[in-house]
Amino acid sequence: MLRFNALTESQRRQPIAVAENGKRSELFAVNVFNEAAMRQAMTREAFESVMNAIRYGEKIDRRVADQVAAAMRDWAISKGATHYTHWFQPLTGGTAEKHDAFFEPVSRDRAIERFGGGQLVQQESDASSFPNGGIRNTFEARGYTAWDPTSPPFVYGTTLCIPTIFISYTGEALDNKTPLLKALTAIDTAATEVARYFDKNVNKVTATLGWEQEYFLVDKTLAYSRPDLMIAGRTLLGHQAAKGQQLDDHYFGSIPERVLSYMRDLEHECLLLGIPLKTRHNEVAPHQFEFAPIFEETNLAVDQNALLMDVMRKVADRHSFVVLFHEKPFAGVNGSGKHNNWSLATDTGINLLAPSRTPIKNLQFLTFFICTIKAVCQYEPLLRASVASATNDYRLGANEAPPAIVSVFIGEQLTKVLDALEVASEELSQEEKTDLKLNVVGKIPDLFLDTTDRNRTSPFAFTGNKFEFRAVGSKANCGRPMMVLNTIVAKQLTNFKKEVDALIAKGMKKEDAIFKVLRSYIKTSKKIRFEGDGYSKQWEDEAAKRGLSNHKTTPEALKENITEKAIALFEEMGVLNRVELMARYEIALEEYVKTVQIESRVLGDIARNHIVPTAVRYQNTLIENVKGLKEIFGESYQEVAAEQLELIRHISEHIKVIHSKTDAMIEARKRANHLPNFEEKAHSYCHEVKPFFDEIRYHCDKLEMMVDDELWTLTKYRELMS
Ligand code: ADP
Ligand code: MG
Repeated sequence: MLRFNALTESQRRQPIAVAENGKRSELFAVNVFNEAAMRQAMTREAFESVMNAIRYGEKIDRRVADQVAAAMRDWAISKGATHYTHWFQPLTGGTAEKHDAFFEPVSRDRAIERFGGGQLVQQESDASSFPNGGIRNTFEARGYTAWDPTSPPFVYGTTLCIPTIFISYTGEALDNKTPLLKALTAIDTAATEVARYFDKNVNKVTATLGWEQEYFLVDKTLAYSRPDLMIAGRTLLGHQAAKGQQLDDHYFGSIPERVLSYMRDLEHECLLLGIPLKTRHNEVAPHQFEFAPIFEETNLAVDQNALLMDVMRKVADRHSFVVLFHEKPFAGVNGSGKHNNWSLATDTGINLLAPSRTPIKNLQFLTFFICTIKAVCQYEPLLRASVASATNDYRLGANEAPPAIVSVFIGEQLTKVLDALEVASEELSQEEKTDLKLNVVGKIPDLFLDTTDRNRTSPFAFTGNKFEFRAVGSKANCGRPMMVLNTIVAKQLTNFKKEVDALIAKGMKKEDAIFKVLRSYIKTSKKIRFEGDGYSKQWEDEAAKRGLSNHKTTPEALKENITEKAIALFEEMGVLNRVELMARYEIALEEYVKTVQIESRVLGDIARNHIVPTAVRYQNTLIENVKGLKEIFGESYQEVAAEQLELIRHISEHIKVIHSKTDAMIEARKRANHLPNFEEKAHSYCHEVKPFFDEIRYHCDKLEMMVDDELWTLTKYRELMS
């Protein structure tokens, strides 16, 4: 076993102070077939054609596709690739790949490397083994993967990976990317129209995403000794260690050498793959860390995060670590999230959520800022649902940051600005307008100073020039929450445009019309704004009064995705249709059921096969001891062996409860399995099966504290986290 902070042999050879040049920019995106690589590898015609597909979604004709494919193949082979794959993100949340060799024999004695436009653009794939929520019937198991030219191909190991969407034979989306791309088109269209109120030169608006990935590292040997960690991704039992995070000595602490070595190796791989990792640090809990990149266009950022998670697992293995993406791997210390920093950028180089110093730009900022708040207010249950999963339930609504109630934090300065705007009279006088603008402008320097006392309990916080959605789970695919966020803001901007245009048509001046609509939004979206402590009981009560949703469990939260309001929204914005939403609902419930089911099985197994036998063994030792004492002390042994007798009794009591609760849990599982549909099953797993976890754990953890350490078969928290 390797101590957490001990270096492996090969790591030891790397000095702490590196003598060689630390410049890494030359490594950046070396293995990515990006614009620069394409320009070099392709004919002008092929290059322009791909660029038009990227910029304007234009179709690439078959002949050009062949040229693109040939260039891509030659480039990939020059990077050492022998295989290619359509790389996609099915609804399992992970990534999928099936490798095919370029190599193809053309006769008995000759072979070539073949890769044509056909193989690049579209491939048939068996959809039946991926979650499809009943969209596939047994007669039509075919699905298709289709090239997404907006995310560049890359060579990963010895394989050319081509990012693709994944759809059923009948055209329904079976992945996270397809609806995300549609939502990004919707926000582009809606935001561009609104941005043109302020600047006619705007032709495109891009949603940007900068994720922050939290994770735990555990020594591989130790992790392998814990079936719960290996199978369920989290510890289902284990008494808390004497020292956890209470001394606050881990956050931003000096990074352990062995971990730093892992990070450096990982960053190297990521740079080659074009993932612009920028920040690395210790997180709050022992053995918890974070990576964050420079933000990117959302579709690319989502792909890069999915890829990063895969790279992280592989590199961890090389360093004899196991990386844990579970939202709550250990009880009693912080869990992990994946903050999604989101903003909107124009093709004229403006961040629409950055306050600026010129009045007209600030009206633009206020427009996008207020429309986002209004969108969140209108559709908060959908945002909550977008991050719902069995694993994230251990974080949201379970006394962990952030709460299951979605609210928006904007800080003191902007609250004042919105308050001032709200009470301004119906038709603003020239003076008021100037005042207001100055007011906004006057706040700018403070805004940038205000970044230190951010409210960490808010699930959706404005942080200076972007919103930060913090409820996303560390294990999640960012595509889902980003699809929802961009859809609801697109919808809101569309409504805004309609309302403003209607006022202009009635003769109101554009600026007055914008102010008027914004003012009404400020009023009607007040309930979503909250600046206080998101963990407090008062907030829960207050939020209930305000009519905000507070879905603490996944089955409850997911139901919001299939309300008529939700279906109408997604259909209107062209993102998902009713069939797709129903299928996704079923898939998510099924995943929930299976996750809880697996946890329940693992827990039952460990309790019965590890905990109870170990406790019995120790109890036998005690019994032997008592027998011995009786021999020596005769009838007065009872007094001498009082503690042992007490322990023997306690052990029996705990064993008894563990047995009866495990039996009851298995019965509950059987009942749940017999229910006719996933909705009922999920409900039953949530409310009938899951409650046993804590009860069984409680007694197992008590035994851990009683039994001789030498006999205890499971690696303890104290070992896992030191
Ligand atoms: P923290 O929240 O940990 O204090 P920062 O606020 O400095 O960290 O930044 C966090 C993330 O925000 C980074 O990943 C960064 O790329 C991202 N980010 C910064 N600006 C934008 C933007 N305009 N759009 C999207 N993400 C952004
Ligand atoms: Mg953050």
